[in-house]
Amino acid sequence: MSGRLANKTAFITGGNSGIGLATAKLFVAEGARVAITGRDQARLDAAVTELGPNAIGINADATDVAALEGAVAKVVKKFGKLDILFANAGIAGGTPVGGTTLEAFETVIRTNLTAVFFTVQAAAAQMNDGGSIILNGSVISVLGNPGYAAYAATKAGVRAMARVMASELSPRGIRINVVAPGAIRTPIWGAAIATPDAEKAFEQRIGRTTPLGRIGEPEHVAKTVLFLASDDAAHVQGQEIFVDGGSTASPAGAPIYR
Ligand code: NAP
Repeated sequence: MSGRLANKTAFITGGNSGIGLATAKLFVAEGARVAITGRDQARLDAAVTELGPNAIGINADATDVAALEGAVAKVVKKFGKLDILFANAGIAGGTPVGGTTLEAFETVIRTNLTAVFFTVQAAAAQMNDGGSIILNGSVISVLGNPGYAAYAATKAGVRAMARVMASELSPRGIRINVVAPGAIRTPIWGAAIATPDAEKAFEQRIGRTTPLGRIGEPEHVAKTVLFLASDDAAHVQGQEIFVDGGSTASPAGAPIYR
């Protein structure tokens, strides 16, 4: 198999949808063997059918440490030790000040932060030296969007953890970086895109507030993850790359200000 990830083994959490699935497709096209996880078996099966014979799907809840370790063991048995981890699984979950339960807050923290730590811990134990880990962050780590306190805290936490882990994993030549997407067209937006009219209005709103004037596509993020996973990023360590059409760096360039 040729390609930028020829003969590499990749593990992607939350690979049955959105950014994770787009990344899995790109990785397979670049010659990798790919294992994806998720909790929804039907979507997992559909994704594996789409990805073809160099992919497997494993039903594993990222918040369950034993399930994560079991998933990694299955990948290693099938494809050999890991070369690439994309810790991508995540949920949105609104937590506005006033009206947020402890349960709702902790669910976001457990899924988007605690589970990411234990995903890295499980994968790093079964990763070849010189491997690459990519964590999925978000522009919400730096933008004060209303209703996102827990989500923002997790994504800022992901960036902070990546820097710590980069120092811990550098002796093994393992790189760890963060991709931080802006608004991307995926099912995570739930009610905001529930009908064609709602989706159109949402897209227009994102377009007006993004310097490049459009919503991001999962493939925009996937291509950046591919760069970080590949040898092209051989000397990139502990960094965060924003894939957001300019919305964090240059908000005043958005169409609404022109
Ligand atoms: P998505 O299409 O809803 O995908 C989320 C994925 O995570 C699904 O595969 C889902 O699978 C999985 N997942 C969620 N909780 C899980 C759990 N406990 N255990 C295992 N898998 C779990 O949304 P997406 O936009 O691609 O999101 C992927 C990542 O991108 C998230 O970390 C999100 O925070 C980040 N992100 C997205 C955007 C955006 O605008 N779309 C922007 C910034 C960052 P199951 O439901 O089958 O478990």
